[in-house]
Parts: sequence; C-alpha cells; structure tokens
Amino acid sequence: MAKVTEIFGSMVFDDRIMKATLSDKVYKSLKRTIDEGTPLDISIANAVAAAMKDWAVSKGATHYTHWFQPLTGITAEKHDSFINPSPDGRVIMEFSGKELVKGEPDASSFPSGGLRATFEARGYTAWDPTSNAFIKGNTLYIPTAFCSYKGEALDKKTPLLRSMEALNRQAMRILKLFGNDNVKCVKTSVGPEQEYFLVDKELYNQRQDLIMTGRTLFGAMPPKGQEMNDHYFGAIKPKVAEYMADLNEELWKLGILAKTEHNEVAPAQHELAPIYTTTNIAADHNQLTMDIMQKTALKHGLVCLLHEKPFAGVNGSGKHNNWSISTDTGINLLTPGETPHENAQFLLFLCAVIKAVDDYQDLLRLSVATAGNDHRLGANEAPPAVISVFLGDELTAVLDAIETETPYNSAEKRFMKLGVDVLPQFKCDTTDRNRTSPFAFTGNKFEFRMLGSSNSISCANMHLNAAVAESLRQYADILEKADDFNEALHSLIRETIKKHKRIIFNGNGYDESWIQEAEKRGLLNLKTTPDCMPYIVAEKNVKMLVSHGVFTEPELHSRCEIMLDNYVKSVNIEACTMISMARKQIIPAVGKFAADTAKQISEKCAVCGNIKCSCEKKLVEKLSSLIDAMDEKTEVLEKAVASLHEISDVIAQSEYVRDHILEAMDDLRKSADEAEVITGSSYWPFPAYDQLLFGIR
Ligand code: ADP
Ligand code: MG
Repeated sequence: MAKVTEIFGSMVFDDRIMKATLSDKVYKSLKRTIDEGTPLDISIANAVAAAMKDWAVSKGATHYTHWFQPLTGITAEKHDSFINPSPDGRVIMEFSGKELVKGEPDASSFPSGGLRATFEARGYTAWDPTSNAFIKGNTLYIPTAFCSYKGEALDKKTPLLRSMEALNRQAMRILKLFGNDNVKCVKTSVGPEQEYFLVDKELYNQRQDLIMTGRTLFGAMPPKGQEMNDHYFGAIKPKVAEYMADLNEELWKLGILAKTEHNEVAPAQHELAPIYTTTNIAADHNQLTMDIMQKTALKHGLVCLLHEKPFAGVNGSGKHNNWSISTDTGINLLTPGETPHENAQFLLFLCAVIKAVDDYQDLLRLSVATAGNDHRLGANEAPPAVISVFLGDELTAVLDAIETETPYNSAEKRFMKLGVDVLPQFKCDTTDRNRTSPFAFTGNKFEFRMLGSSNSISCANMHLNAAVAESLRQYADILEKADDFNEALHSLIRETIKKHKRIIFNGNGYDESWIQEAEKRGLLNLKTTPDCMPYIVAEKNVKMLVSHGVFTEPELHSRCEIMLDNYVKSVNIEACTMISMARKQIIPAVGKFAADTAKQISEKCAVCGNIKCSCEKKLVEKLSSLIDAMDEKTEVLEKAVASLHEISDVIAQSEYVRDHILEAMDDLRKSADEAEVITGSSYWPFPAYDQLLFGIR
C-alpha cells in the first residue's frame, strides 16, 4: 500500500488543490464563500469549474455528477460526461460554472410528499461549496442540495445547512454578549461511529429476506450468541482485517478520516469511527462511508449489512452521533473553561442543550425513526425510546448546587456565583462512562446514541441544531436586555435547571424501572415510528422550525408523509417476503422432512423387526402441527397485507402496520423458528444463524 499520507485526500478537490490550481483572486473569493457563506459570482464559478474539470480529467474522470441526498434514505446521482462536440467533428472536455452551480435532474420519481406536482417535475440541485468535490470511479462528484422549482427542500442537506446557519446566528448573539468579538462564525462538528455486520456473500445470496429487506425475517437462535462477550474488541479475523484495510484505503483517498475500527458486541458485528469534522461534511462523509463499506465488502466475498436489526437475539447496529459546537477561532463551546467567565459561558451552552433536548424530545426521537430502528430502541441493547440526558455525577452536582443555592463543596461552604467564581474542577472520567444513555455528555461533546446504523445523520443534526438555536435565541433575547448581565445570567441558568432537570438521568437507561420513573417525570415514550412521526407537525415544532428558517410548514407536512410512507412500504416488503419464504421455501421443506420421517415409521427396524419407534411418530406429529400453524399464520398475514392495501391515508396505514402487520409477522416467525429447530439441517432451505453469524473465518 502506498504511504497513507500520500493517498489521503488524493481523490478530493480540496484546499491544497484549490490553492494550486486557482488564481489568487478566484481562490480567495471561493474561500470567502466556503468560510463565510458569501454569494459566489458566476465568473468565479466558471474558473472553479474549469480547474475542477482539468484536475478530474487528469485523474481519469470522464463524467461529473451532482450528488444529492433525497428523502429515500440513499444518495442519488445522475452522470453527465464532460464531452461537448467541437466544430471539427471531435469532442472537447468542458464544464461550465453554470453546470457546477446548478443541475436539473428529471426528478419526478423522487419522493416529494406532495410538494411538487408531476407537471412541475423539475427539481434543482445546487452546489454546496463547503463540502469538497471528489472522484469516485470515472466520475467527479459534486455535493449538492436538492430543491423543488419553488425552492422547497426535497433533500436532507438543505435543512441541515439551514439549521447550521440558525445555530450560528443565535450562538453569535450569545458570544457577543460574552465579549468574544473576534469570533466570525460558529459551526457544529460531528464524529459518527458507524456499526455494521459482515456476512458471507454466498450465504447472503441464498436468503431472500437479506436480499429484499437487509435483515433476517426468520431464524432460530444458534447454540451460541453474544453471551460470552468474546467478540467485543476481540481479535479481528484475517478476512475481516483485509476488508478493513481495503476500506480504510478507499476512505482515505476520499479524504475521510477513518480512524478507529473494532469488533462490536454481536458476533460478525464491527464498528468504524472517523475523526470528527464540520457537520454537513461529516454527513456527506458518512453517506459515502456507508456506500464504500458495502461496495468494498463485495470485493472480499462479503456483504456489509447496515440494517439496524439484521438478526433477532443479538445486538442491532446503531450510529453514535458525537456532537459539539465550536468557533472559527477554535474554541469548543462545550469545554469547561478555566476562568469564571469561560465557565459561565460553558454552563450557558450546556443549559441550552439540556433545555433543547427537553423541549424537543419529540423532534429528536422522530429524527431517528425508521421501521428498522424501531427494533432497536427500547430493546435491551440500545438506548430506550425515552430521551434523557446523562451529565455524570459531578456536573449534575454542580448544577444542583446552582439550582438550590447550596455550597457545591460542603467542606468549603462556598456558594457558586456565576461569572464570578471558578467552577469546581470536575473530572470527565473516560473510563466510567454511561453507555446506556440516549444523550450523554462526554467531557467536551454530547453523544446522541439513538441513531440507527442506516440513518442519515443529517436528520438528527438538523433537529438538534434547530432546538439548540431556539434555546440560545430565548437566552439572547433576555440577556441582551438585562441591566445586570451576571445577575441575569445566573438566574437564567438556575431557571433552566429548575425547569428542565427532569430530562437529566444518570442511571441505567436499560432498566425497566427507569421507564416508569420517566413516565412519572412526564417524559415522552414514543415507541414506534407511527407514534412519533406526526409530532413533526405539532404546533410548537412547526413554530420553532419555521421561525429559524429550517423548514417551511409545507416541507414539514411533506416530510411527515414521506417518512410514514417509507415505514409502511418497508414493512410491507418484509411481510410479502415472509409470505413468499414461508409458502415457497419453509413449508415445502418442513413438509418434505416430515414425509421422509413418516416413511421411516412404516419401515421395520433392521435389528429388532419392530415397527420404528414412537419418537419418529411424535416428530411427524409435531412437524405437521407446525406446518398447519405456519399455513394458518401465513394466511393471516396475507389477509392483513390485503387489508393494508385497502387503506388510503398514510397515518392510518402506518397505524395498521404497527398494530396488525408486525404482530402477524412475529407470529409466523415463531412457528417457523420452532420448526427450524426440529427439522434436519440438510432439509432447511437457506443458511441458518450459526452459519451467518460465525461463518467468516
Ligand atoms: P468513545 O469512547 O465514545 O469511542 P472517542 O473519543 O473515541 O469516544 O470519540 C468517538 C467519536 O467522537 C470520534 O468520531 C471522535 O472523532 C468524535 N469526537 C471527539 N471529539 C469530538 C468533538 N469535540 N466534537 C465532535 N465529535 C468529537
Ligand atoms: Mg461512543
């Protein structure tokens, strides 16, 4: 392998290449657009496009694409070549500023939730200059936002960028009040830890459920699961190590800071974490990482599963969204400071996050809601569906002392006065972290742990940024008018703690008693996607998101509809796949095994001459009763699917899926898994869990 420092970013049109290939004037102007969001002149865009094209062609690219993130959950791209006919009948390679800045894919098939009438199918892609263009295969990829003809967001990048702007606006107001006059802008950063499973490709190809839905819909637990805890951080198998090395190289070429890799809790489960970066870039990178994980696996005879719950009975996969806010001068606003002044500022930002999570629990919950992630949240492995904030004992004690105006350290008998006193030193012990909290403070960042492994991180971050912007707006409105700044600040923090401490929970989030306690505290427990999604159009949420310019009201309604429609469609595909597997594979296979076993019953034993013993008889009876049960339950599921198709309203459809289809699926699975355990393995029609989970050597 070439030297890492040489390959890193070699396929990215990054700052280094910009500086080398653009004139000083063009470079400076582009930098201003990237760093400060100033509009870009078309003459500058032309110069950038030409340089980009020359660079891309020199690397072997023949095509370019406006790469965007529609609401389907994957990324989309339409490739155009650089060629243009020249008068001499040959072609020249061209790329204009106009083509760089704006694209017009025929977008009529992307979900718009009613935002775009089909007669007005045009959707526009607009270049996001803050995220670098890169080359993959023979194509120059240009990260873009995707909007309708009227400018409504049809993607995940647009609201994410708007939310970053909203947070920047409000955080700047606060920073001014604290006298940070040299700060030009504030950005959020994210480091997403990505979990995934690897399975053997040959085995994968034999399972219709994995191919169609990304998860197993049937499968009895093997004799061994994850109970020995021998996979977590265990030695990485050679085949997996080769995959990871290849994956890292591909990611590094694209300038993705892949840093940490290890085995996860479940057998065949792994994790990859990059070094954190600006949120919209982190979102693009995470989307690319998922794509490259899957492509690289195929080269190694493996399939990478990004589904939240590929296997029942072992842990599912999530994505930890490590989030912080920092200034362009390099100050992380979630780092406790060393002076009284810095501490007060830190506590105010900390409180803004606590308040945001409490006020907008519903938005955070729905930002991670999918049919797949519903299997994780609330199961005994991932954070519960209830949102709470972990601060750790020491920081909680500090906040307690401020709230109750009691001395923090009883030996010293000193009261904390914000803006005057230095905060007591509190250790953020990295070894003693709470792993069960959905939203944990980890020293200088918050780790939002509810995201599913296939979620786009854009969704969680747009709502988080917007909610925190709202807390900061309310704070700034008060503090800007205050006569005595320190006094106003102190009471603002006290009031926040008093009002929002119900969201703070430092105990075990997996404990059943916490769910009861959370209910007493009035926290929301929205277990499923249909339970939480309608909250996106709740009055208070619409008001907040619209007031910060993150969404328009029609955009929110369209998102609600699209997300519920995705949910209904995903589960419907699962149900239909189950029906097909049960009818065409499982029932015939169990039937054949029962018939072969029955044949033996009439045979005489070669040794004693008696009719074969009663255990075969019992087995055949059991098998045939399970076949009956599977047949009946398949029929129930078939009827449920037919009834679903009778319903036209998407909310009613999603509720029907939640209340009837999922239950019918569970029921069918139970009988099939029971049959699997007593059916001869050579008869079972597809690879079983032990092969899938322990098959990679
Ligand atoms: P853990 O113990 O949870 O694995 P790490 O320190 O290894 O914690 O970090 C996990 C992720 O958090 C990495 O992607 C890392 O880059 C990211 N991270 C670290 N510091 C920050 C920060 N200030 N803001 C955002 N993400 C961060
Ligand atoms: Mg972590």
